[in-house]
Amino acid sequence: MHDNGTLYIVPTPIGNMQDITHRAISILNTVDLIACEDTRHSQRLLQHYQITTPLTSLHEHNEDKRAAFLADKLKQGDNIALISDAGTPLISDPGYTLVNTCRAQGVTVTALPGPCAAITALSASGLATDRFTFEGFLPVKQQAKTEKLSQLTNESSTSVFYEAPRRVKDTLLMIKEVLGSERQIVLAKELSKAFENYVSGNADTILEWLDSDPAHQKGEFVLLVSGIKKGGSDIPEEAINLLKQLKNELPLKKAAAITANHYDLKKNELYQLGLTFD
Ligand code: SAM
Repeated sequence: MHDNGTLYIVPTPIGNMQDITHRAISILNTVDLIACEDTRHSQRLLQHYQITTPLTSLHEHNEDKRAAFLADKLKQGDNIALISDAGTPLISDPGYTLVNTCRAQGVTVTALPGPCAAITALSASGLATDRFTFEGFLPVKQQAKTEKLSQLTNESSTSVFYEAPRRVKDTLLMIKEVLGSERQIVLAKELSKAFENYVSGNADTILEWLDSDPAHQKGEFVLLVSGIKKGGSDIPEEAINLLKQLKNELPLKKAAAITANHYDLKKNELYQLGLTFD
């Protein structure tokens, strides 16, 4: 009977190779095996730090099988580190099934603190940090994306998204359409790399910046959107009730227009509010 090994969740740099802790290097050096998304990619990091521990792959297409295999190895006493291509494993990266399996089987799992693009961007964004919602990547399909954004209409915390370069413009246009032009947005680009940049403003300001130079649309992005101001809705209770009643009988657009006219309110604000009714 062996003592169980430990699974270590080890964050790695998101751009600047120096962003790795002494402890992370020490763990990567001393474990029996390192599970990573792409062995060729992670080999470069290991070479840089002269780490010779063997690598094995664990990615979204093989995670179910590999999780069982790695959990068995841990139960036989091996210590294993999990890394991803960049940043903190499991944060929009593989590892959930492995950690879940290990926890269910009584294997010790411990995580090292370290780089994460979402937290890095949030901390320097200038947007509210007291409450935030990590949304990861938005759905690719347009309807699902609109629905997801509509759920944030009344969100008062800062929303943090990961976004691919080829979709960033489309996402900003949709944010403008669904959440309106008032939200303050920060586009955090190429964090910890040579061309790191934070662009802030409303959706139009960011779209103009993206259009002003093709190079602006390349790279890695975190998109942060401010929440609605607390108690920020000036829509009176009676107007909300009227909107609810009208929405039962009429298309939302029409219901919002009538309510706006009656109470001298903004049509779009009422429309956005109406989207949140069941
Ligand atoms: N696990 C990673 C973490 O902890 O941040 C995230 C992995 S996810 C597959 C990759 C996404 O993270 C990118 O598409 C981008 O949205 C964001 N990202 C990663 N590195 C970044 C960087 N240096 N600057 C800006 N965004 C970054």
